Amino acid sequence: MTTWLPIPADSDFSVYNLPFGVVRTPSGRITAGVPIGDRVIDLTLAADKGLFGARRPHVRLFEQPTLNDFIALGNDFARRIRRRLQQWLSQEKPPKNAEDILLQRAEVRPLLPLRIGDYTDFYSSIEHATNVGKMFRPDNPLLPNWRWLPVGYHGRSSSIVVDGTPIRRPNGQILPKGAEAPVFSATQQLDFELEMAFVIGRESALGQPIPIEQAHEHIFGLMLFNDWSARDIQRWEYVPLGPFLGKNFASSVSPWIVTLEALKPFRTRGPVQKPQPLPYLHCRGWQHYDIHLEVSIRPPDGPETVVCRTNTRYLYWSMAQQLAHHTVNGCNVRPGDLMASGTISGPTPDSFGSLLELAWGGQKPIALADGSTRTFLLDGDTVTMRAYAQKGSLRVGFGQVSGTIMAAEA
Ligand code: CA
Repeated sequence: MTTWLPIPADSDFSVYNLPFGVVRTPSGRITAGVPIGDRVIDLTLAADKGLFGARRPHVRLFEQPTLNDFIALGNDFARRIRRRLQQWLSQEKPPKNAEDILLQRAEVRPLLPLRIGDYTDFYSSIEHATNVGKMFRPDNPLLPNWRWLPVGYHGRSSSIVVDGTPIRRPNGQILPKGAEAPVFSATQQLDFELEMAFVIGRESALGQPIPIEQAHEHIFGLMLFNDWSARDIQRWEYVPLGPFLGKNFASSVSPWIVTLEALKPFRTRGPVQKPQPLPYLHCRGWQHYDIHLEVSIRPPDGPETVVCRTNTRYLYWSMAQQLAHHTVNGCNVRPGDLMASGTISGPTPDSFGSLLELAWGGQKPIALADGSTRTFLLDGDTVTMRAYAQKGSLRVGFGQVSGTIMAAEA
């Protein structure tokens, strides 16, 4: 597919991608948008120019502050909008109205594109679960249920923020080494977790499990996800009910939702699962995705250092398995719900998706390009995650999710 619009070869936003988001324009207007190269298609103006047929309903849909109503119309509807845009972009000459509906990407501010409903975080990387298990429970790293079901917990959607939002270092209860009573303090072990999250597009009814073969029809698309974590708070509070205040102070998402259709060429085989999961978790075909991921840290006055490179194909449990498991008891899902993968670690030490693992619980500080080292994040550090899938010249990327650490509330 070629387009009249110049697109840098390494752009995440090729004509194959066309993810959806919501932006604030330089004039302060809010509109749904689709990034393409260095531009963003203003969907409200595109609808107003008649690009999608009937004007008024489309304009009303795209001028809303979130994509929830659009997503709820179903994946077929989104597919039609994407195909129409691809057609418009791949004409031989620029259409007459092109400049009227294209914004400069550098001039718009991408917003959180969803009113996020329920948020669930899984724990689906066997490398991550084993690494963390070794540090928290050396005698028993991978608990017996792990290979039988996608472990997860219900998180908070209220504290999910978009790329670029500063992250305040949280305060909480911490048990100092060797102490019997906790102290109240700012976390000394602030960490990131590299994850991908999927957005629910189609509702399911209460009491009706989603069969694994139908899971993909309920998923609208994917975003990059940083599950900020305070390890010292987490370590003291997590028994017996799991993550709580060490996790729910903030999570960050990338602003563009990449559709499953755009990711289809990058489907791949997942790891062999042993023992074979129970029948409701069996799935045929390739359910994993080959998406390259990386994380960098930039100190306030220094250059950026890439500290992790990994891939979503390492995940043990697929999204289809996660969703089938989540609903097998009859729990229903709604458009705008978000489900994150859990930290994505690979098999080698440079592919671990958290500082906890990269610096091995503080024992192996990692070096940054400015000569400093890190075991956990310092105030002023900026963490940036990026992701893209590529096959030859076919490139589909996610952009980035970034956040800078601010000092704790005194
Ligand atoms: Ca997590």
